[in-house]
Amino acid sequence: MTSTVGFIGLGNMGGPMAINLVKAGHRVLGFDLSEAAMSAHADAGGEKATGVAQMAAEADVIVTMLPAGKHVRQIYMGEGGILENAKPGTLLIDSSTIDVDSARAVIAAASDKGMPMVDAPVSGGVAGAAGGTLTFMVGGADEAFEAALPYLDVMGKTIVHAGGAGNGQAAKICNNMILGISMIAVSEAFVLAERLGLDAQKLFDISSTASGQCWSLTSYCPVPGPLPSSPANRDYQPGFAAEMMLKDLKLAQEAASSSGAATPLGAEAASLYSLFCNSGGQGQDFSGIVKFLRGTS
Ligand code: NAD
Repeated sequence: MTSTVGFIGLGNMGGPMAINLVKAGHRVLGFDLSEAAMSAHADAGGEKATGVAQMAAEADVIVTMLPAGKHVRQIYMGEGGILENAKPGTLLIDSSTIDVDSARAVIAAASDKGMPMVDAPVSGGVAGAAGGTLTFMVGGADEAFEAALPYLDVMGKTIVHAGGAGNGQAAKICNNMILGISMIAVSEAFVLAERLGLDAQKLFDISSTASGQCWSLTSYCPVPGPLPSSPANRDYQPGFAAEMMLKDLKLAQEAASSSGAATPLGAEAASLYSLFCNSGGQGQDFSGIVKFLRGTS
């Protein structure tokens, strides 16, 4: 079945995701503030929408891929936005990484207008967006999840229903908080090993089969050598940029403070990534934090 899909936010992620929907045979009305992004969409077989209102009125399904919660609130709930112009029953999918409170507020407002909606943030980066291999973490009612599945399947490989509204965002920030903290832990261990005269390869060989084992060590080792595929071997070119990790750690801290959860290591990780980004690391891979820790020791 092919549909008219509205797609707002044709950036690094949204651009290739929208093209995968075009390739699957959908009519994709794209909209972005950037003329270059709109032209790239049209060149790949998509259509340019004249604005949010026109696109929303024509679409059966709308996907958004925007920078932050304030953009998502504005595009959905603002004057001239999606909820004002879309037909009741239009399926809404927000794949932006945003704060849990905004995700829940927008889904509740959509529900009041009779529009099923899911929050469906992704992991997998630009390569996953281009290859259609993203992981989607989805929050929302069962029927909304089922309705979104055929579209998410076109753009991703692993689709997980994490529970009710906002739980996709909750899953994403909880996972990335583990990742940020564990990358710092592994990096500190390598810096300490250097000072103690313990070879990095030896530490890797021992810890990767001992109780220190974790993904940051064995799949994304932050020092060059032990794992040829990790960004450490190509001067910390991302990969997953430190500024994106900082964004997710800040979202986790916002969620911790609004829900009353104690996350002291998450707070420390956010503060270390903020220092790393402010000292020039923002565009580097997040595993480059090891250089920052080495420099301050
Ligand atoms: P991006 O900045 O490349 O794209 C965002 C696009 O939204 C831009 O083209 C911008 O012009 C457009 N935009 C902003 N406000 C708009 C508005 N009011 N109307 C229409 N268009 C508007 O960002 P990105 O890298 O594509 O990231 C998008 C989202 O995906 C973010 O929430 C990010 O955290 C998340 N994400 C990114 C990655 C990654 O590796 N880049 C990975 C996972 C998740």
